[in-house]
Order: sequence, then structure tokens, then C-alpha cells
Amino acid sequence: MNASPSIAVIGAGPAGLMAAETLAAAGARVTIHDRMASPARKFLLAGRGGLNLTHSEPLDAFIARYRESAPRLAPIIRAFPPAALIAWAEGLGQPVFTGSSGRVFPRAMKASLLLRAWLARLAGLGVTLHPRQSLTGFAAGGAVLLDGQPVAADAVILALGGASWPRLGSDGAWAGLFGDAMRPFVPSNCGFTVAWSAPFRARAAGQPLKRIALSHGGETVRGEAMVTEAGIEGGAVYALSAPMRAAIARDGHATASLDLRPDLTLADCTTRLAAPRRGNSLSNHLRRTLGLSPVAIALVQEASRASAPTQKAHAGVSEPLAGLVKACPLRLDAPFPIARAISSAGGVAWAALDERLMLRDRPGVFCAGEMLDWEAPTGGYLLQACFATGVAAALGALDWVAHAGAGASAPIARRG
Ligand SMILES: Cc1cc2nc3c(=O)[nH]c(=O)nc-3n(C[C@H](O)[C@H](O)[C@H](O)COP(=O)(O)OP(=O)(O)OC[C@H]3O[C@@H](n4cnc5c(N)ncnc54)[C@H](O)[C@@H]3O)c2cc1C
Repeated sequence: MNASPSIAVIGAGPAGLMAAETLAAAGARVTIHDRMASPARKFLLAGRGGLNLTHSEPLDAFIARYRESAPRLAPIIRAFPPAALIAWAEGLGQPVFTGSSGRVFPRAMKASLLLRAWLARLAGLGVTLHPRQSLTGFAAGGAVLLDGQPVAADAVILALGGASWPRLGSDGAWAGLFGDAMRPFVPSNCGFTVAWSAPFRARAAGQPLKRIALSHGGETVRGEAMVTEAGIEGGAVYALSAPMRAAIARDGHATASLDLRPDLTLADCTTRLAAPRRGNSLSNHLRRTLGLSPVAIALVQEASRASAPTQKAHAGVSEPLAGLVKACPLRLDAPFPIARAISSAGGVAWAALDERLMLRDRPGVFCAGEMLDWEAPTGGYLLQACFATGVAAALGALDWVAHAGAGASAPIARRG
């Protein structure tokens, strides 16, 4: 094999750019191709929310966030862990800080400065970027096609992203190229529809529910949520989106419950609500005794309208009402559309890839980033896995080209 292999990366998001850097730093000649006019559009959007790069929790707990994909991602993330990502960002002149939640952000709280420095480093390494070029398929002989033309490279890394926010470039339109190796894309870290009553919707849409806890299927997360016209979204909802989505797929709906005062026990709430009403309306009583916000009060009233405790609650029985404050039931009917989700689940199945992230049926073609079939909550886990799989696919490709000349099957992505 040539001492300086040529490797094409298709997809200029964080996974593809990290693969390109790893390859170029190892001496490969690297080209990056992307269907959009400029690179890393979704990464830049993530920067608008502060760019949560990774998380500071212990590595075992960190890896468990990937649920069923944890066994496959564990060695990949251990090889490029949060500490390596932080060192990398700082090496690009972007010092980081750890927030009270353990999430890690660049101090600049945006992606543009990091991306600018990164692209300059890549250019310095001789990496060339080719915008407006799309993966269109695989030739009969196996070569990877960009706009119908075979890619001129010894190996190819695909880093095509998931299917959320398609206008930023990652539209998942390539999914059909992977046949049985593809798990359908579904929304992840998404909101869910709830059939609110018209009065509740008019009163509460657009209002945040702060310092709540959301429970589903034995899991509870603290955080915030936002009531929308169509349902509910926000950090706490995103964190449980995977099991709630699965419940909807299985049962037609999911039932979650909201604790509107997670810092108080049921007994505390019952005692406080038992205080004399003194002519106060139910809303005022809830506000005065429990400090609930108007939207939380509206939610309790919405739930009480639909349940037996209503009459009792209105009659002044505090325990059923406290029960609604501590476990306000929420029926979720469907995930919000994938175009609005933070990320997607589904993608190229792990079974279709070897340990180097090479497609088993396409020697010389590697995959990285969100296009693979894993999902994780927000908190920095998405970007960490994108960067780490970018590194892993690059090392896999370097290993493969180093050995391909010594007897491996002929490269499927040929030098043109
Ligand atoms: C609003 C928002 C906020 C987010 N905030 C965070 C956060 O704070 N922390 C976090 O960890 N994650 C966050 N994420 C998720 C994170 O941005 C993504 O997981 C990450 O960008 C995925 O990286 P990737 O390189 O795999 O794919 P992408 O970033 O999606 O890049 C894929 C690239 O492939 C290109 N492409 C697609 N198809 C083709 C084709 N056929 N031919 C050529 N090119 C193609 C696309 O144009 C794109 O440039 C956020 C996402 C959103 C939408």
C-alpha cells in the first residue's frame, strides 16, 4: 500500500471533520465532500444552545447513557473519552467550563470560533473541502459514487448524520442505499403530542414548567419542560424520549407523570393543601400553599377535570389534589416530527459494521457519527459519540489501507 493513502470523507459534520483530522494527522491525503455549500451546519446550530460538548460524569455512567448501544460504543468512547475531547477543544484555543449539571461547554458558548480554528487546522494539514457534492450510491463494482462519479480514494468514510433538521444537510435521503443494514430513522430527544383541552392550550402553550420531575416506566428525571400547542417538549422530556417512544410504538400511547413539586413529599403537599381555603379559589390555594406557577396550576386543573379526584379536590379534599401535584398523569400520543427533533435514532445497524466501523459487505467503506444506529440523551453525549466514532472510523480506515495491499480483499473504493 502507498505510504500516503488517499481517503475521502463524505459528510462535513463533527464526525466527518474529526475523522478527517485523525487521518490527515496520520499522514493520509484527505478530501471532504458535503452536499451543502458550507460545513457543519448542525454543529453551528448546536452552538446556539451553548454547544454542550460532553459531560463530566464518571465514564461508566457516561457510557451507560447509550443504552443498548453501550457495549459497541464503550471501547470507542474509552479510546477517545471526554478528557480527550476537552483537550482537543482547548488545543483549538477554546477553553471549556463544567456547568453545575456536569455538562461541559466551551467558554465562548458557541461553535463558530471552534469551527473556524478547526477548519484552519484541517487546511494546514492539507485537507481539502469540496462543497455541494453528494453521495448518490454505490457502483455495481462497489465504488462509492459522488454525484454519480466513482470516488478517487483508497478508502471512504461516510459521516452523513441522522435525519433531524434536514434543512441543515442531514436529511437521511441516503438510507435506501443500505438495504437491510438500515434501521429506520425515528425522532430522538424530541417532544410528544398531548391532546390538551382547548382552554388549557390557550392558557398554557409557550409556558415553561420549571424544576419539575418527569417519570416514565420506573425512570425519573429532574429538569424543565415546555408546554406547546401540540404537546410537551424540553430537557426532561428529551431525556426519556427513547423509552416513551418505544412505549408508543408498542401500546399506541405512553403514560408519563409529572411531579410539579419534586422537592416536597406527598405528605408535605397534603398538609399544606389542608390549610383552610378562606374563600380562595382553587388556583389561589395551589399558588399560596405550594407556590405553583400558573402553568403548573393549569396542568393540575386539566388533570383533575379528567379524573375522579376533581369533585373531591374542589370540595376541599387535599390528598387527591396533592396526588395530582406529585404525579400529574400525562398521556403522550406520538413523538413530534423528526424534522424538529434534536437527534434521530435508527441508522446503519451495528451488526452491519465490524469493530473498525467498516461495512461488512463493503470493504473499505467506514461509517461514523449519528448515521449509526445509536441514540443518547442531550447532555453532550451526542457530540462525544460523533467525535469518538469519527476517530475510530479514521483509525479503522488507516488500519485497513495499511493491510489491504497485503492480501485483504480488493478495495471497494478505488483510486480513480
Ligand atoms: C438544535 C440542536 C442542538 C444540538 N445541540 C447539541 C449539543 O449541545 N450537544 C450535543 O452533544 N449534540 C447536540 N446536537 C446534536 C449534534 O449536533 C449532532 O448529533 C451532530 O451534529 C451529528 O454529527 P454528525 O457529524 O454525525 O452529523 P451532522 O452534523 O448531521 O453532519 C452530517 C453532514 O453530512 C452531510 N450529508 C448528508 N447527506 C449527504 C450526502 N448524501 N452527500 C454528502 N453529504 C451529505 C450533511 O450536509 C452534513 O453536513 C444538537 C442538534 C440540534 C439539531
